[in-house]
Amino acid sequence: MEYKAPRGTRDILPDEMHLWHKVEDIVRLVCERAGYGEIRTPIFEYTELFERGIGQVTDIVEKEMYTFLDKAKRSITLRPEGTASVVRAFLEHKLYARPQPTKFYYIGPMFRYERPQSGRYRQFWQFGVEALGSQDPAMDVEVIGILIEIYRQLGLGGFEVQLNTIGCPECRPRYRDELRSYLGGRAGELCEDCRRRLVRNPLRLLDCKEPGCQRAIDEVPPIFEYLCDECREHFEGVKALLSALGVSFVINPRIVRGLDYYTKTVFEVVHSELGAQDVLGAGGRYDGLAGECGGPPTPGVGFAAGIDRAIQVLSAGAGAGEAGDAESRPGDAGAPGPDVYIAPIGREAKAEALKLAFALRQGAGEETPGAGGLKVETDFMGRSLKAQMKYANKLGARQVVILGDEELHRGVALLRDMSTGDQEEVPITDIVKRLSTFGRAEAATVQEATGCR
Ligand code: ATP
Ligand code: MG
Repeated sequence: MEYKAPRGTRDILPDEMHLWHKVEDIVRLVCERAGYGEIRTPIFEYTELFERGIGQVTDIVEKEMYTFLDKAKRSITLRPEGTASVVRAFLEHKLYARPQPTKFYYIGPMFRYERPQSGRYRQFWQFGVEALGSQDPAMDVEVIGILIEIYRQLGLGGFEVQLNTIGCPECRPRYRDELRSYLGGRAGELCEDCRRRLVRNPLRLLDCKEPGCQRAIDEVPPIFEYLCDECREHFEGVKALLSALGVSFVINPRIVRGLDYYTKTVFEVVHSELGAQDVLGAGGRYDGLAGECGGPPTPGVGFAAGIDRAIQVLSAGAGAGEAGDAESRPGDAGAPGPDVYIAPIGREAKAEALKLAFALRQGAGEETPGAGGLKVETDFMGRSLKAQMKYANKLGARQVVILGDEELHRGVALLRDMSTGDQEEVPITDIVKRLSTFGRAEAATVQEATGCR
């Protein structure tokens, strides 16, 4: 095989897809119930948006962007994250003129030119929310609560919420100066990146993973005593509301988002199963961003969470075994087998099988399109009856309709229940009605058993 997916990218095959759907379904459900509306922004934007919206002195903008010139020589960048685009859309469509807050969620791929390693891809997926228009600590807490609720519904235990504040343009400069003078004396111990950060963005030193830098920052005072009254009050409000909501969290003064337009609350959710790249999701408040992007000053808070990493934890088995997990079947782990397999024998039967398959998939006389429809498969390989029965079994089919040319001429088919082996002759005209009722009854039982929609 000559072609391979580009470095740092990968295919997600149907085998694995049930987990992706599970994550996406839960994200949609939790967000919609909280009044967040889905937004889909372009996969690429003009490069300036990210330079502005993420900030020049960040890993993303400094070294991770997929930037290229299009045919008209405009600089285009594949989106490395979602917040800048969402804020751009909020401003472009003047959504600030509506009653606030405006609450969005998104699910989609992001692109960063990083060194590929476990938990780090060049194309990866995120879900996220952005709540614009409110300064209330309750908004921060709703956003954090939504992320936790999504992980809870996924059955993804073993995570920890870490919380910090990074102040605002009012109080942060004082802390920044303090850091600069404190760490300036130890510049020799810092990594090359941090020596640069010391000048341009000293807050970023706090989350550097290099051992030398870790030692140097070990004794720096936390930001708390430098906060202005407003930021202190906000932080206290967030902590109190999180506690009231029953969300446990720890304070981690090393978390920074490191961007000028980020303010006050910052948080990360880490998971012990993840190894070096242990952050499942992260977010914070960005009251300066809308203004920085040229719009009316609008407070905002949000998070972005890696889907690849959530799936990594889910498929490692932590928190697996939740009720509602689809039964497994060979070759398609997790996706349920067909309700019905139609086994035609002979040419005429083939046409009837295809017709019947589409009719059963449609459902019988349902008002909503697709409702009551069944999952139905049939033969495309010209297999013998024996081979088809074996294949139907392998797929995990629950019922098999055997259509022979001879039966067809008598207007009947054989209906075989795969779990009991019982077999009976049924008029073909009755099959759709008969099996659709079966599908509905089954669906109701499954619903009852799992509590799923
Ligand atoms: P890190 O410190 O791991 O580089 P980050 O600050 O770059 O994280 P964010 O921009 O906050 O990450 O993105 C939010 C989440 O998106 C991360 O917590 C992670 O789960 C996921 N994520 C970020 N980059 C990647 C990547 N290259 N591959 C897979 N998931 C990623
Ligand atoms: Mg990164």
